[in-house]
Amino acid sequence: MPESLAGLGEAELIRRIAHFAPAGQLSDDTACLTPDPRPLLLNTDVLVDGVHFSDITTPAVDVGWRAVAANLSDLAASGAEHIDGITVALVAPGNTPWTWVEGVYQGITAALNQFGGSVLGGDCSSGQQRLLSITALGRLGRLRLHRSDAQPGDALVTSGPHGLSRLGLALLQNDPSLNHSALSETLQQRSIERHQRPIPRFDALQTLLQCKPTELPWRVGGTDSSDGLLAAVQALCSSSNCGAILQEEHLPRHRDWPKGNRWRDWCLAGGEDFELVLSLPADWASAWLQILPDSCHIGTMTNNPGKITWEETQLPLKTVGYDHYKSITT
Ligand SMILES: [Mg+2]
Repeated sequence: MPESLAGLGEAELIRRIAHFAPAGQLSDDTACLTPDPRPLLLNTDVLVDGVHFSDITTPAVDVGWRAVAANLSDLAASGAEHIDGITVALVAPGNTPWTWVEGVYQGITAALNQFGGSVLGGDCSSGQQRLLSITALGRLGRLRLHRSDAQPGDALVTSGPHGLSRLGLALLQNDPSLNHSALSETLQQRSIERHQRPIPRFDALQTLLQCKPTELPWRVGGTDSSDGLLAAVQALCSSSNCGAILQEEHLPRHRDWPKGNRWRDWCLAGGEDFELVLSLPADWASAWLQILPDSCHIGTMTNNPGKITWEETQLPLKTVGYDHYKSITT
């Protein structure tokens, strides 16, 4: 029988979890951060069993990685250039094996080792459903990106292809409607990797900061595409009181991405892509597009509030992103 959390008890569970934090970090009820003149950015994300992960598609180590990556992606899309660390709240039933929790913390540690920061604190509780809530703390650099900073006439760009995570999920679920022979080996591998191990795009943020034309002010509208590409564009439009024209021809697709409506919809609304979606002056955008591999110019912001249309047909886009309280409509 594997060791369960009920068998370990709370004190032993915390003692084991403490090995994944710096020595002594979890011995008090509070964490203390070293003073830093840069503004503090923070955000919280929750992962729920059956909603964001399942044992079929996500090994424990990837649950931990994804939880950290999702949080850090929001920090990257806000302009964070340094990560202080995270707090972790874990809820799990008493019969949860310790090896699952250990795997989650191994994934958390792997992501923090790659992107920076450490486990600063947290809490655990028994509960009926496994749940992981992470709060990430980081420091703002030279540019604060806001969703409300897009302007009509801006270029709309993104740091990479979309839909891969959704395809990765379908592959992991052995979706019978997928025709594997139409999907290259590279595309399948990349999609599963993107689903299980998403990457917050701090590299794309750094590139953006480096290539700013000197005459332009520090202004970029931005968000990440954690809820899908179209949801990101909609968020920029509604916060900035703008509209957008997208070019179907230039949707950010992997080079082996198949053609067809389903593939277009997964690209637009598959979700969990964690790329940067930015609205910025054309000169800055083209400098970024030239030096960031796989980045893509997808459209233009307009002064037509709330209207998102295709350039080719001038028809409105109907697909919406993932909403936790609604089913997807296409
Ligand atoms: Mg997000």
